[in-house]
Amino acid sequence: MRNERRRFLGAAGCAAALATLGGCRLTLEHGISNPCRTPLPDALSRHEAVRAAWEGIDAARVWDSHAHLLGTGDSGSGIWLNPGMSSVLRPVQLAQRLFFLNAACVDQTPGRVDESYVERMRTLIEGMPAGVKVVLLAFERAYTEDGEPSPAGTSLHVPDGFVMAVARRHPDHFEWAASIHPYRRDCVDALHAAKANGARAVKWLPAAMSIDPASPRCDAFYAALKDADLPLITHAGAESAVPVGDRQHLGNPLLLRRALEHGVRVVVAHCATMGQDRDLDRGADGPWVESFSLFARLMDEARFARNLYGDLSAVAQVNRAGPALVRLLEREDWHARLLNGSDYPLPGVMPLFSMDQLAQLRVIEPGLGPVLAAIREHNPLLFDFVLKRHLRSGNARFPRRVFETRAFFAP
Ligand SMILES: [Zn+2]
Repeated sequence: MRNERRRFLGAAGCAAALATLGGCRLTLEHGISNPCRTPLPDALSRHEAVRAAWEGIDAARVWDSHAHLLGTGDSGSGIWLNPGMSSVLRPVQLAQRLFFLNAACVDQTPGRVDESYVERMRTLIEGMPAGVKVVLLAFERAYTEDGEPSPAGTSLHVPDGFVMAVARRHPDHFEWAASIHPYRRDCVDALHAAKANGARAVKWLPAAMSIDPASPRCDAFYAALKDADLPLITHAGAESAVPVGDRQHLGNPLLLRRALEHGVRVVVAHCATMGQDRDLDRGADGPWVESFSLFARLMDEARFARNLYGDLSAVAQVNRAGPALVRLLEREDWHARLLNGSDYPLPGVMPLFSMDQLAQLRVIEPGLGPVLAAIREHNPLLFDFVLKRHLRSGNARFPRRVFETRAFFAP
């Protein structure tokens, strides 16, 4: 099976993939293909770095706040991939898709992809202390401004019903977040149904779904979210994992003020640590600035101190780590509003992490890199957790409660 996977990925045309996956910054430090080893050898599970990572942590409070449930729909799950994404005419999208499936170590046999994705995740969670859970994210379709689904504008659809069913089947491993487009005519009903079915949050990727978070079209949905006390996890900054066409501007963090002003608890995915956006506070044609600086501006607005949060998913990736990661570590006044997440399956995409880069940034001890790399070959979820527990800038580190996110989702 391993060889088959390797061939499968090789066929994608790695050059095209490497040039584009993850926004152009990649590393070959750990090769291209996930070796998909399992389980973790004793020497690693008993390693001091792993022991230290769990020290003082209550595993029952550890919810990974950001993980994707992917597949091909071959189980009847309703997962839909735009055929353009798997066409040899679109080598970049095809390669990305193959990278994600390889990162998740799925069995490519037709009829086994969706199921083996979930099985692999469960195996990885079982490689961590009992009580740890992962919040699985659904992925909504794009809609037009008239509230009609737009298949042509949709790259991926992971329906709420499937994500809910997986979480229900494995309640010791998973929680779930719905994904509901605010332009849908039934969006408020869908939100109430999701909440009644145990959803812990709503997830958006505005640029992929054609959502303008600053549009009055979102107001009814914001009011319902506030009413239901469900947080909105929403991507900000540049998006490179999913095709977004000319809609990148919808990831501008400043557009989220409208939700914040409605009192919605907003979680900015990845703390907007990649890309540039216009500084709309200086007009519609304001200068381009780092998206992260706009996230920082919102975090420093006193009126949002109680409802604006950021998640740490992907922030240590090679295309995001840098001054923003150091700032997140050093801004200890923000730490009470940071939530850890893995962005699974991305921790399993080998070219997306460089231990050398993190050591050069001095956010990990140089000796830690090889240990983390070895853990990653077996368990990318554990790798992401142990890495984040060890990140530091000077004496500043992410405190325990950044990882113990359960109370945020289940107050
Ligand atoms: Zn994500």
